[in-house]
This record gives sequence, C-alpha cells and structure tokens, in this order.
Amino acid sequence: MADNFVYVLNGTAYVNLTNKCHNACAFCIRTGGDGVAGVPLWLDREPECDEVMAAFDKLAEKVKNNEVVFCGYGEPTERLEQLKSCAKEFKARGLNTRLNTNGLGSAVNGRDISGDLDDIDIVSVSLNQCDAQKYYEITRSQLGLSAFDEVLAFACALRDRGRRVVFTVVDTIDKTDIAACKRLCLELKIPLRVRKYVADNYNN
Ligand code: SF4
Repeated sequence: MADNFVYVLNGTAYVNLTNKCHNACAFCIRTGGDGVAGVPLWLDREPECDEVMAAFDKLAEKVKNNEVVFCGYGEPTERLEQLKSCAKEFKARGLNTRLNTNGLGSAVNGRDISGDLDDIDIVSVSLNQCDAQKYYEITRSQLGLSAFDEVLAFACALRDRGRRVVFTVVDTIDKTDIAACKRLCLELKIPLRVRKYVADNYNN
C-alpha cells in the first residue's frame, strides 16, 4: 500500500485518484501486480485535489510532454468531483489532460456526466469488445450485460457534444472481434485505437 497519487512515465504525468472500479477485467494489470513500472499504486486512502496537485508539483520537473492522464489503479470517474477539480487545476496550468476510462461514469454516478468533462481534452474509452455478452465476459462488470450499452451511450454523449473521444480495444481479443469493433465504431463515428497489450503499463 502507498500514497502514489501521481507518477511520471516517459515524461507524462499519471494521476491515481482511486482503486475503485465496477469492472474486473480479465486483462487488468491489477490482478497480477501492485503497480506500474515499479511504482506501487494500491492506495492507503484516496487523495483530495490539493493533495494531487501537491504530488504533481513535486514531480513537475520530470513532466516533459505537458500531458496529464487520469487513469488508475482504478476508474477515475468513480471520484467525479475530484477528477473535475484536478482537471480544472491542470488546465489552468496550461497542461493537456486525458481521461482513460471504462466508460461507466454516467451509470455509476446515476446521471449523464458527459457535460462534466470540459477540462478533459481527450477521453479514451475502453470498448473492450464488440457486443454486450462478450464485453461482460471480458470485464465481468458489476453492471452485468447492461454495461456495454452504458459505455456506448457515454461515448456517444461526448461525441454529440463535439468532444474528442476515442474507443480502445486491446489486441489480445480475436481478430474477428476486432473487425466487429471497427465496424461498430465506424457506425458510431467514433475513432477506434487497437492497442498492444503491455503487461507492465496501464492505459485502461
Ligand atoms: S476497467 Fe480498467 S481498472 Fe477496471 S478492471 Fe478493467 S482494466 Fe482494471
């Protein structure tokens, strides 16, 4: 256990707001380790925004890409208010902000949160699979089979607001499923990034 609220990898700052997540993905690196690149990421407690900013300030000289990513070891939208506050602070400092999310933020917060993310420049949503059953099999979501539609609705709401949103899938799924994901994303007019599975990296 630790209190690594912010860590820096390859010149990019990553914010670790929470360990909570409504999914339990088969490929989640949390199941096989305690952190990323030697940085322990299980939290003793969840940070408030001022603690995140203080942690960032200590590491600021290592941040070379002018970019901050909200990711894990957990789902950032589980702490929506802290996510919003931190994003606003980072934008005020001239940094680019990205959210790596499982796309369940609206479902978990009980309302459409797509309008709450104005200080996030890019929202990267894990699509994971091409339909509800396959999504559930890979994510084992607490939301059951409805989770997939929640993810699609969240991404589409961002798209409709003119926000930069991209879906991702990991290249460990079947090629025919990747092709189906590509067709779905074309239909939805949301770009898809097929990313390589990297065991010691966290891209959500
Ligand atoms: S959504 Fe992300 S943090 Fe949650 S279980 Fe899946 S990979 Fe892990």
